[in-house]
Amino acid sequence: MTKEAKGKSCEIGAGLLLYIIALAVTTLGNLTGMPETVLFLLAYAALSATTYWEQLKKIAKKQFMDENLLMIIATAGAFAIGKHKEAVAAMLFYQVGKLVEEISLSKTKKSIARFIDIRPEYANLKVGGTEKIVPPQELMLGQIIVLKPGEKIPVDAVVTSGTGTVDMKALTGESKPRAVWKGSHLFSGTINLNGVLEARVVKRYNDSTAAKIMRLVENANEKRSESIHFADKFTKCYTPLVILIAFLTVLLPPMMFIEAKGEWIYRGLIILVAACPCGLMVSIPLAFLGGIGSAAKQGVLIKGGIILEKLTKVDTFVFDKTGTLTEGVFHVKDVVPFNKMTKQELLEAAALAESYSKHPVAVSLREEYGRETDRTRVTDIEEQPGYGVRAMVDGREVYAGNLRLMSRERIRFQAADEAGTAVYVAVDGEYAGYIRIADVVRKDAMDLMRWLKRRDLSAVMLTGDNEQVAEDVADELGIESVYAELLPEDKVALLEEFREDQMEGELLAFVGDGINDAPVLALADIGIAMGGLGADAALEAADIILMEDEPSRIINTVRISKATLRSVKQNMVFAIGMKVILIAMAFFGFVTMQNAIIADMAVMLINILNSFWMLQYPEQGV
Ligand code: ADP
Ligand code: MG
Repeated sequence: MTKEAKGKSCEIGAGLLLYIIALAVTTLGNLTGMPETVLFLLAYAALSATTYWEQLKKIAKKQFMDENLLMIIATAGAFAIGKHKEAVAAMLFYQVGKLVEEISLSKTKKSIARFIDIRPEYANLKVGGTEKIVPPQELMLGQIIVLKPGEKIPVDAVVTSGTGTVDMKALTGESKPRAVWKGSHLFSGTINLNGVLEARVVKRYNDSTAAKIMRLVENANEKRSESIHFADKFTKCYTPLVILIAFLTVLLPPMMFIEAKGEWIYRGLIILVAACPCGLMVSIPLAFLGGIGSAAKQGVLIKGGIILEKLTKVDTFVFDKTGTLTEGVFHVKDVVPFNKMTKQELLEAAALAESYSKHPVAVSLREEYGRETDRTRVTDIEEQPGYGVRAMVDGREVYAGNLRLMSRERIRFQAADEAGTAVYVAVDGEYAGYIRIADVVRKDAMDLMRWLKRRDLSAVMLTGDNEQVAEDVADELGIESVYAELLPEDKVALLEEFREDQMEGELLAFVGDGINDAPVLALADIGIAMGGLGADAALEAADIILMEDEPSRIINTVRISKATLRSVKQNMVFAIGMKVILIAMAFFGFVTMQNAIIADMAVMLINILNSFWMLQYPEQGV
């Protein structure tokens, strides 16, 4: 139980005890007058002291028009007109409601934390010939750690010896274990399943994947959604309105048909209690937390409830091509040197020049090169987004990139004759040949495209690659709207145009891998980044992160967002409907103060249950 919940429970316990004593003593002893008032006042004070205190603090901040105020006026009023028992009972139930609220919120937060329980507890540090157990926070870059079967990987590291498999589930939702061997990257928060591995620390604990993701999720809990703001605004108008209705109830009828004035005052107070919107206020954040939790369980991180809400309004999905719609794992088809160089020399020059780049093209060239790139041979590396790279390799200036790069550098080159992506290489200002590479479309992207089409949502593809490749990929995926040969800044400009053309209330999402497209991710109404593992820029810039490179996960994420909003709307309609009925019944004298608050609790429980199931939103196929 949280500290707040414990405090509330004590308050309720003490108040309940005093209430029972007051009831027993006054009924058995037939107590009336001053002694009776004092006994009930004690119980009332125990139950409401903190509420009064909080309200006083709120007055200082000028934000006191809320359900607390309704309860204070109602119960204080009831007490004043001699309805002592009712006033105490109403306060008692109100506090129980607050307790339920507190518990359900903290339960939801806890279960989200449990889904993504990726915080490592310890690490086995290798010192000399032995191992020492240390807290992961103490690990330093370059130290060697030992990972035993079943242990959680404490920090991001690279395997130096041993082979094994790693369970990625907690991080990515991926149930298939991943094989690792010497040179493989290990992410903190995943679990070493079998085999003893030794690995070199490449990130300190705080910069490691697990810590970063935990921070992300915790922040998501803090950020409030527009719907919640709506609820806040709503109480701001709602509370004065209710007070006005109650006031008129007290004033008007006695003026018109002269009935007992006391009775109308009591009814006015009951209206205040009946109108209390407590259940609604808690069910909204609960539903959002539930949606975020369900998504997290499925390997999708959502940075806050407002993102879920926006996602329901997206009608256009814009995709980056390389690495997003395609695997981004290029296979080298051809190495075509121009005059003196051998194939191996050409590939080596390109791989070395690309030795620091994270671009899929670069990764694939290094892969094809097959050996670790000797970074001491490379200096002055300049990555030129949308063009390629420039670097000094063995003291010679190497350019590796696309046609555009060659043209810009005024290098006379021969265009590759076959279709496909080519990396052109120039050494010391002279054309040295090209490497033809090919990428494959993700099967999974096809599923997503079919789904988008069925839902009448538009898909647009942007790419820095050439027209031909872009057309081929778009044909295969059935995308009609394609823009090719874009520089990163062109993508930004295009997206700005798209956004201007959007209709009011319709939003645009951009899906990319965070490489060369982080500005676009940040600019879109919703930025969706794939492969949260590794790409820091994507983690920062995106609103939604697909931990595994599977664009089709967007489908279930959209479903979750719709279900969340539906649940919020249901709760609003139900709660407000019930309030209207209760207020009317109170006006005609059909409910007592206790019954009004019990009805409110029932509404709250139904709302909370309706929100709770968002936590269990199932993973569904395409
Ligand atoms: P996409 O929009 O398809 O993701 P990018 O904007 O990342 O593409 O890159 C556009 C083009 O620029 C690539 O198709 C490639 O030809 C070239 N390019 C970018 N970075 C590199 C690199 N590091 N090495 C070689 N070529 C590159
Ligand atoms: Mg890209």
